[in-house]
Amino acid sequence: MAIKKFSSKYEAAWSDANQQLLCLDTGTWRTKRPVVNVEKCTYCGLCAIYCPPQCMKIMPDHFEPDLNFCKGCGVCAKECLRGAITMMPEGDFDNEGKKG
Ligand code: SF4
Ligand code: SF4
Repeated sequence: MAIKKFSSKYEAAWSDANQQLLCLDTGTWRTKRPVVNVEKCTYCGLCAIYCPPQCMKIMPDHFEPDLNFCKGCGVCAKECLRGAITMMPEGDFDNEGKKG
């Protein structure tokens, strides 16, 4: 196998990758979605700190998941000290996001 010469001192083996290294479209993995009870949310931000893909969005008075990236792991619901997040089955929602 030929040894590749790098064209600059900043290039390394990893720069040859032509596939995505990370799958960021994690919203398609979800079987449950977190639903935030806005009345219970104290705006503490713990859910955003613990969310693995960092997809909790800051809204004016509460936090809510970006469903394009939320993978439904449930960490936010476990960490919320107020019990403001409930994991609901995806089958309860239609394409517009409404409960069926
Ligand atoms: S952890 Fe719970 S109370 Fe805190 S911001 Fe998130 S949803 Fe609101
Ligand atoms: S369910 Fe998981 S990925 Fe989705 S917002 Fe909560 S912590 Fe983040």
